[in-house]
Amino acid sequence: MAGTVKAAILRGRKTVETVVEESRKKAEKVVEDGLNTVDAVVEVSFNTVETVVVKGRKRVESAVSLGRKTVEQALFHDRSTMQAAVLHGREDVRIEQVPISKAEAGELVVEVGAALTCGTDLKVFRRGYHARMIVPPALFGHEMAGTVVEVGAGAEGFAAGDRVVALNSAPCGECYYCERGQENLCDDLLFNNGAYAEFIRIPARIVAKNTLRVPAHVPLEYAALTEPLACAVHGFEDSGPRPGDTVAVIGGGPLGLMILHVAALYGCQVIALVKYDGQAEAARRLGAAHVVQTDSIREAIRETRALTEKNRGVDIAIEAVGVPEAWQEAVELVRKGGTVNFFGGCALGTRVALDTNRIHYSDITLRATFHHTPKFCRKALDLISSGRFQAEAFITGHAHLAELNRVFEKLMNRSSEIKTAIVPEEKR
Ligand SMILES: [Zn+2]
Ligand SMILES: [Zn+2]
Repeated sequence: MAGTVKAAILRGRKTVETVVEESRKKAEKVVEDGLNTVDAVVEVSFNTVETVVVKGRKRVESAVSLGRKTVEQALFHDRSTMQAAVLHGREDVRIEQVPISKAEAGELVVEVGAALTCGTDLKVFRRGYHARMIVPPALFGHEMAGTVVEVGAGAEGFAAGDRVVALNSAPCGECYYCERGQENLCDDLLFNNGAYAEFIRIPARIVAKNTLRVPAHVPLEYAALTEPLACAVHGFEDSGPRPGDTVAVIGGGPLGLMILHVAALYGCQVIALVKYDGQAEAARRLGAAHVVQTDSIREAIRETRALTEKNRGVDIAIEAVGVPEAWQEAVELVRKGGTVNFFGGCALGTRVALDTNRIHYSDITLRATFHHTPKFCRKALDLISSGRFQAEAFITGHAHLAELNRVFEKLMNRSSEIKTAIVPEEKR
């Protein structure tokens, strides 16, 4: 009897236990399902909220951008004339009200954000013309970046509001030289001038071949350095550098400083040969390992060679002054088997006397790099955008268009200015 009762109790307990266990499991499952559902709901709502926020932000951004573009467009279309620097002759630049060109097929009109002064412009200002580039009366200035305000029919890949740097030239792409990748020597190199102005028309060929979009984080005045930097990178690479090479750069002007900075970034030991204190200071800041500062060419050669092992001379010497004495000096700086680059263009009709014995028996390579090619323009803008290139060091002043004459007079007096950014009044 007792056994039966015990067994019954035992059975009953088991049943209760089973029921309890089952209910617990059921309850757990409900809770778990509930939790999952809650999670899923939270996740979904969260995603929805995020999507809505992102979408909303994008809509607002595009509305703002559209609004800005529309306003810019409206302002631009209300205008038919602009302020621009017109070169009339020697040291005669006048700021005049001139018509704004319309964008024809394939062309762009760009509102200039910043135009930079350049040694070439200074030469043109002094002489009143440039054999290849500019015949007065003419618009003037060639280093600039800005914002597209008008797009001609068929100008592929550009829209109003785009920030761009438009180069000062573009090759034809079809001649003997272009086909050999020497586009800087193109038989039909097309030049464009008129950067010292509120707006500039960009010819179709330059739009197609040498107009580059400026990344949002790059200020327009830095992007405007693309043209001279393209020449500098071209000259440097043409000299066949290897990391660790000792490179002498003669001249502390904007291009000399750019070449030495590029060489230092590339990992060369740079010796800068300069005349003025401001140039010496800039050279050091831009990575020159040594600065030789003297007016005497003989002394400069002696000091430079003394900086190399056993006075052997440098691996590469780049001349960036553009006077015959400096060309001759460059040949005296290099070691046996070294390379000289006559980068600085001298005045028309200039000749130099070179020591043929030294050039032949020391197996010296002579090069003379001119201008840039589309490839180097892209390399230059990439270098500026990377932040490795110290763009800010090259822009030492800002001025408005109306002050252009004063700026050139100052540059002629060999001030320590490297480049002055000519900017529209309201953007200073
Ligand atoms: Zn230039
Ligand atoms: Zn060509």
